Amino acid sequence: MTPRGAPWKLIFGMLLAAGVASGQVYDTVIANGRVMDPESGLDGVRNIGITNKRIVAISQSKLEGRKVIDAQGLVVSPGFIDLHSHGQDNENYRYKAHDGVTTALELEIGVWPVAQFYQAREGKAMVNFGASSGHVPARMAVMHDTGDFLPRDEAAHRLATQEETLSIVNDVRQGIDDGAIGIGFGIAYVPTAPRQEILRLFQLAAERRMPVFVHMRGGVPDEPQSGSLPALQEVIADAAVTGAPLHVVHLTSVCGRLTPICLQMLQGANQHGLDVTTEMYPYTASASRIESAIYDGDWEKRTGNKFSDLQWSATGERLTAETFAKYRKQGGSVIAHTLPEEALRAGLQSPIVMFASDGRLVEGKGHPRSAGTFARVLGLYVREQKVIPLMEALRRMTLMPAHRLESSVPAMRNKGRIKVGADADLVAFDLNRVIDKATFENAAQYSEGIEHVMVGGVFVIQNGKFVDGVFPGVGLRAK
Ligand SMILES: [Zn+2]
Repeated sequence: MTPRGAPWKLIFGMLLAAGVASGQVYDTVIANGRVMDPESGLDGVRNIGITNKRIVAISQSKLEGRKVIDAQGLVVSPGFIDLHSHGQDNENYRYKAHDGVTTALELEIGVWPVAQFYQAREGKAMVNFGASSGHVPARMAVMHDTGDFLPRDEAAHRLATQEETLSIVNDVRQGIDDGAIGIGFGIAYVPTAPRQEILRLFQLAAERRMPVFVHMRGGVPDEPQSGSLPALQEVIADAAVTGAPLHVVHLTSVCGRLTPICLQMLQGANQHGLDVTTEMYPYTASASRIESAIYDGDWEKRTGNKFSDLQWSATGERLTAETFAKYRKQGGSVIAHTLPEEALRAGLQSPIVMFASDGRLVEGKGHPRSAGTFARVLGLYVREQKVIPLMEALRRMTLMPAHRLESSVPAMRNKGRIKVGADADLVAFDLNRVIDKATFENAAQYSEGIEHVMVGGVFVIQNGKFVDGVFPGVGLRAK
């Protein structure tokens, strides 16, 4: 070997290591983007070669592709993974895709029956989808609740018989056998579900080595100053004694002013060996069904909020005692402007909090978080208010949710990162323009500045426009 040959050999070796083979033509090349990968820390201009649903090359030199997209000036990141996405139809997936989401999972409430959920979407979904086996829907089915999506009578207001409890546990287990991702809980919506029933299902999750995704119990009325703390203590204790990995959903909306203390509790649990994670949506209003148990009793007195804090999704009107009573009989989606700004700030600034939308639009009506969560974090809190560095925000919407799931869902090991061999679930956005457009008055508005979105190597958004007739979404299941 000549002395001059050595560097060439070295460079050639490095190119091979990055998956760059001379003369290779890739299916698609995303060229010249600012590639950001929270796992490796890569933040630099690169060309990405994609063949057969996978990233096969990441290179500083030019790549040949049958299709080449110029991403100059755009940030290219792993597609966003939304762990909390109730809207599981193509109406909702469209808004998700425009918000940069490539995987939308219904893990909080979950679904039941599970097999039908996957069957109905396979080959017909624009983004990757999946669901937990849901305690709430199983309880509704077993107890013959008449509610729509959330319980409104039997499952919310009476105790289950021993026989019914057995059926609920068996149904949830069946859902896991059918591929569900962990077990979903909305304990606040089934206040008559005793602690034993919840503990039994945590045991089941632990036996199957799967996480639980929990909207914890509502505040304890006879201990008003403690707010949500006993509810968080319940699920941390259940996780500790069973070994079930615990994910607490929308922490800021369940903890409110106590969010900093709830964060300390979760961090402490982690430091002492528990597998505990959490998430938030970036708004100071929550949303739910008005007929559900969280509005039971003397709601104003119990919560210290006012009827005028409530906004009826269908019309945008603020409620009064009279309209509250009327709509509770009727049932429907209501937005509650009740979350303190300090809760939002504490969540945004905490490195242990992922971003997840909790979104669901029905015929265009609902909370704007359904359509705007991810662009809002990037546009408002990264670019405008500089509350979170860009890479950190991306980590909390890509790598962290992938990590949360990958021990039970092997497919997640290849999502949430940009590396050779990873799934080609990618988003390219303009950091100068990215912003949410969905509002409380009109939630059905696509986010702006999300230029290209690729799911499994197929563009679902190109040049900011939706690509019709492609359904690359895959159902994600636990092993
Ligand atoms: Zn919830």
